[in-house]
Amino acid sequence: MILILKADVDKDSPELKRLYEFLENFSGLNIRMVELEGETRAVREIHLIGPTHNVPEEVLAAMPGIERVVRVSTKYRQIGRHDVSFVPVGFTYNGIRFDQEGLHIFAGPCAVDTPEYIEETFKVLKNLGISTSRMGAYKPRTSPYDFQGHGAACLPWVFELAGKYDIKVIAMEVLKERHIEEITKALEDAGHPTGVMLQIGTRNAQNFELLKAVGSQTQFPVLYKRGMGLTIEESLNACEYIASEGNRNIVFCLRGIKSQLSSPHRNLADFIHVPVIQRQTRLPVCVDPSHAIGSKDRAPNGLMDIFNAAAQGVIAGANMILVESHPEPERALCDGHQSLTPRELEMFVEDVAIVRQAFEKRQNVYSQEIMKEMVS
Ligand code: PEP
Ligand code: MN
Repeated sequence: MILILKADVDKDSPELKRLYEFLENFSGLNIRMVELEGETRAVREIHLIGPTHNVPEEVLAAMPGIERVVRVSTKYRQIGRHDVSFVPVGFTYNGIRFDQEGLHIFAGPCAVDTPEYIEETFKVLKNLGISTSRMGAYKPRTSPYDFQGHGAACLPWVFELAGKYDIKVIAMEVLKERHIEEITKALEDAGHPTGVMLQIGTRNAQNFELLKAVGSQTQFPVLYKRGMGLTIEESLNACEYIASEGNRNIVFCLRGIKSQLSSPHRNLADFIHVPVIQRQTRLPVCVDPSHAIGSKDRAPNGLMDIFNAAAQGVIAGANMILVESHPEPERALCDGHQSLTPRELEMFVEDVAIVRQAFEKRQNVYSQEIMKEMVS
C-alpha cells in the first residue's frame, strides 16, 4: 500500500507522527518513507509492505496529511505506474532529464582504450551537440583471454576528458560493488567534471547482490539492461530489486534477446517492448541497436541494420539509445565490427532525428483524434 503525503507534510510534522502511531496497531508491517523528486514539487510517500489486508484504506484516506491512498496490487511496487497521475515519471541527473517523453543518444566505444581515441570520441559528440556517452572500463567478456577493460586506472583521464568536452553523463558498466566505489572516488578526485550512469549488463541482469548494491546508493542513476534470456517480468522484478533498496532513478534498456532465430543478427531485437515497459512502469526506456544487431551489415538501399533497429525503437517512443562508435573501429579493442565511424555516427544522429519527427507526428495524429472524441 502506498500513502501519498500532502505537499506540506515533512518528516517532523505532527500529521506524520499521528500516522506512524496509527500504523503501530498493525503488526508485521514494514514502513518505509520514500522521497521522489517531482516536476513541480518533491513527493513524499509512505510504503507499507507486508500484511496490509486489514489496514483500513478509508481511515487512512481521511487522516490529515494524506493526499491519497493507493492499494498496490501489482508486484512492481516501486517502479510500477499504479495509475497515479501526479507521481513523477523519470528523473533529472547532472542537468539532463530522463523521462518517458525525451530522447537521448549515448554514443561511444564498447571499451575505453586510448586517451587519444576517447578524446576524439568526445570531440565528435560535442560537434554533434551530444553530451551523453557510453564506454566500459570494466568489461565482462565471453573469453578470459580477451581484453577485460582498463579498470579503475583509466577513470581519472576519462572523466577529465569528458569534462573538457562538456559530456554530462557516461553510461559505464559495473560488475561488482567495488567498481561503484572506484567510480565514486575517481569522480570525487577529479572534482566531478562529468556524471556516470551505472550500467548493469545483460550478463548480470539477475545478479541480485549487484542489483542491491546499485540500488542502495542514490548518487548515480542506473541503466538496467534486460537479461538476454529473461522475460520482461523477470527483468522488471530485477529493477524492482534496485528500486526497493532506495534508488528509483533507473532506465530500462532493451538490447535484444538471445535466440538461434536471430541469425544472422547477434540477438533478436525486442524493441516493440518499448511501450510495454512504458505502460507498466515509470521508467524511461532505452534501446541498444549495436548489441541487438552485432554487425554493420547494410540493406541494398544502403541503410545499416543498426540504423533500422534504432528506428524501430524510436518510432515506438524510445527515450534513450545506446550505440557503439569508435574513431577507428578496426582498431577498437572490443566490438569494433559493430562500431560506427564518426561519419556514420553523424548519419545515425540525422536518421534518428528523422524517425523521431515521424514519431512526434504519429503522436499528434493520435492526440487530435482524442480531442475530436472529447468534443463530440
Ligand atoms: C555493453 O553495452 O557494453 C554491453 C556489454 O552490453 P550487454 O550487456 O547488453 O551485452
Ligand atoms: Mn559492446
